[in-house]
Amino acid sequence: MANSDSSNNFDYLYKKENKARCLQCGRCAAGCPAAHVFSEYNPREVMRRVQDGEEHELHKDPIIWLCGQCYTCNSRCPRNNNPASIILQARERAYKQGHAPAEIYQQSAALLESLFLNGVTVSPMLLKGKLGVLSELVDVERLTKLRAELGLPEHNSREVPIPAKAIKQIRTIITSTSGQGERANDA
Ligand code: SF4
Ligand code: SF4
Repeated sequence: MANSDSSNNFDYLYKKENKARCLQCGRCAAGCPAAHVFSEYNPREVMRRVQDGEEHELHKDPIIWLCGQCYTCNSRCPRNNNPASIILQARERAYKQGHAPAEIYQQSAALLESLFLNGVTVSPMLLKGKLGVLSELVDVERLTKLRAELGLPEHNSREVPIPAKAIKQIRTIITSTSGQGERANDA
């Protein structure tokens, strides 16, 4: 089956009875920041599609990339449903099957590289044009200048450096899980 990669995860998160208990009340949508900004996005509608048995098709719909993963929907739901997790599963499937937008692959590669090299994902240096909308919103030059005045490094967003041993362990995990062994040998 084409969707076997994450269908088990999906079934674990969304057992049949969880889907059925959605009331379609719309509390999730009323508090959803993405629904306020994007008229085509609505977490209640996502739940309806899941109830209608369309959860394994969601990953092909570009609306899944509009969710901000803030989990407001989950906190507002009277039935403890979680549209955010449904979106996350759809994204995972989309990514693995090549349906994600090109910039998602570019940004995830940049984040993984930063994690491999520095032990952190988002760093000030990475904001320099590599993180799409986030890069457009942040004044990196000003941020870098302020950090320099405070004695903070450009490539690491933490004040306390990550211990070399921890970075080595992070690299081992990445090497073991994403086939980047050749880079581990360069480190
Ligand atoms: S997921 Fe929860 S808040 Fe959203 S429509 Fe269903 S029951 Fe209502
Ligand atoms: S996690 Fe996504 S769907 Fe839920 S409230 Fe936030 S933006 Fe909306």
